[in-house]
Amino acid sequence: MSTLFLRTLREDPADAEIPSHRLLVRAGYIRRAAPGGFSWLPLGWLVYRQVEQIVREEMDAAGFQEVHFPALLPKEPYEATGRWEEYGDNLFRLVDRKGADFLLAPTHEEMFTLLVKDLYGSYKDLPLSLYQIQTKYRDEARPRAGLLRGREFVMKDSYSFDLTDEGLQASYDAHRAAYIGLFDRLGLPYVIVSAMSGAMGGSASEEFLAPMDVGEDTFIRCSACDYAANVEAVATPAPPAIPFDGLPDAVVHDTPDTPTIETLVDFANANEATRRTDRDWTAADTLKNVVVSLRRPDGGTEALAIGVPGDREVDMKRLEAHVAPAVPEPFADADFAAHPELVKGYIGPAGIEAAGIRYLVDPRVVEGTSWVTGADVAGNHVFGLVAGRDFALNGTIEAAEVRAGDRCPNCDAEVEIARGIEIGHIFQLGRKYAEALDLKVQDEHGKVVTVTMGSYGVGVTRCLAAIAEATADEIGLCWPREVAPADVHVVIAGKEGGPQRDAAEGLAADLEDRGLRVLIDDRVGVSPGVRFKDAELIGVPTIVVAGRGIADEAAPAFEVKDRRSGDRVDVPVDEIVDHLLEVCAG
Ligand code: ATP
Ligand code: MG
Repeated sequence: MSTLFLRTLREDPADAEIPSHRLLVRAGYIRRAAPGGFSWLPLGWLVYRQVEQIVREEMDAAGFQEVHFPALLPKEPYEATGRWEEYGDNLFRLVDRKGADFLLAPTHEEMFTLLVKDLYGSYKDLPLSLYQIQTKYRDEARPRAGLLRGREFVMKDSYSFDLTDEGLQASYDAHRAAYIGLFDRLGLPYVIVSAMSGAMGGSASEEFLAPMDVGEDTFIRCSACDYAANVEAVATPAPPAIPFDGLPDAVVHDTPDTPTIETLVDFANANEATRRTDRDWTAADTLKNVVVSLRRPDGGTEALAIGVPGDREVDMKRLEAHVAPAVPEPFADADFAAHPELVKGYIGPAGIEAAGIRYLVDPRVVEGTSWVTGADVAGNHVFGLVAGRDFALNGTIEAAEVRAGDRCPNCDAEVEIARGIEIGHIFQLGRKYAEALDLKVQDEHGKVVTVTMGSYGVGVTRCLAAIAEATADEIGLCWPREVAPADVHVVIAGKEGGPQRDAAEGLAADLEDRGLRVLIDDRVGVSPGVRFKDAELIGVPTIVVAGRGIADEAAPAFEVKDRRSGDRVDVPVDEIVDHLLEVCAG
């Protein structure tokens, strides 16, 4: 370490929000270079290369072949699939000196499709799976948490090419299995959840989420069966329709100063005219109507009204996922002014229809359900408004928040809710890209057929951060051996000129001869206290101290400390190499 390009920091960096980010900077692994962009220092790059190599080995073992594309790409392929526009503000677009449009690729479906089209033309060439490990660029709205959400990051992206749907399923399964092996090897805990496929298009899709509170994804997990899904992908089971017969007519009541669900429910329960005799009104009896403005990738906007039971909020991430590639924005005062039929705080289905706005409701709003909702007049609500009788049902949307205790769509048991980091995503693209870019092959009868594709991503740099986050403790990083920057960290803890330096340097040389990777703290003028602290901060799994024990002439010994458990043992000098070889072999 006397020559290692490293400065550990005592203070947390001001901009670091989560432990892994703080520690990676403090321990001298990464430095921020730009918003959402990081430089790698020697220790960080060692870990990065370990992670990358594990990813590569698992892909190779599965029989996928590595290729490599440029990150700087022409616009045309992305225009052909619509993604030049659909990616919206997340895409880094540039113009070359001749005025031609380019982009920094956020992902490479188009290029892989074109490459295969370029070289292959027969069913005999398939199935095929190709991958690359490459830097990706996305102008994320909120780069955060260090490497977890960068604007420049490394992704392993694979693509499969098959003739048939069964072939695609087999390729998908092969990737799924490879990912399981890969994340197991990285020592990352994960949950496989059903997912939406987002801007990629396509159908079947699953995400690998590392369950952690710092994650940006929320998922549900059934307490009884093995159902797990990203909340974006949760399908709310619709209750059966109820016959209208005998339901009383809807009635409008004066409900002054009740622009919120809470004030409405309180008013309705407190007043003679609106009170129920059988039970109290609850928020779940009300229908809350929220209007948003959808901005399409072409820049145009369209209003959308969403009706959800009043005991639930509209979950903006779920809404976003379901209206993509459009982006929902709050309905501004100017929008309200342009639609006088909508009365803020008292919006009802009639006003929405009169305003000519598309109205989608939560799947729980089925025919025959009766609601308290806005009457489109300030201070007025309508009671007993029946879906399918008093207002038309023109479609549903999954935008209501999902909560712990909701029913599992699979088995009806209660679900739990947790947060996670998306470390991998696998999906069946189907023929969307092959159709857009005309990737066809001849089948065995000489007929020309469109290829079906899958796309599979692992966030390599994000995984590194997730590993750091999952394993760090209060005193520092704590790497799993598979990805650690070294196997052993040797600390010299004696007076300068004492026997410790020679013993430590001798040990380091011996260990390196035996194939271990050693980090030795041979800095001069650094106190043992600082050396211990730095060793704990850096997080190599095994720390060896050449200290007082070395000076014991009768029985010289090193102290070996396990970074994770903190357990220490004294090991005689003549046994130390074998001992460490054994420890490092696991
Ligand atoms: P997110 O929902 O987190 O934005 P995504 O669904 O857009 O991710 P994909 O297009 O599925 O991401 O990309 C594949 C993988 O690349 C993700 O599973 C994730 O591990 C990684 N990844 C995506 N965006 C980033 C980013 N900004 N920084 C680091 N890794 C990322
Ligand atoms: Mg994803």
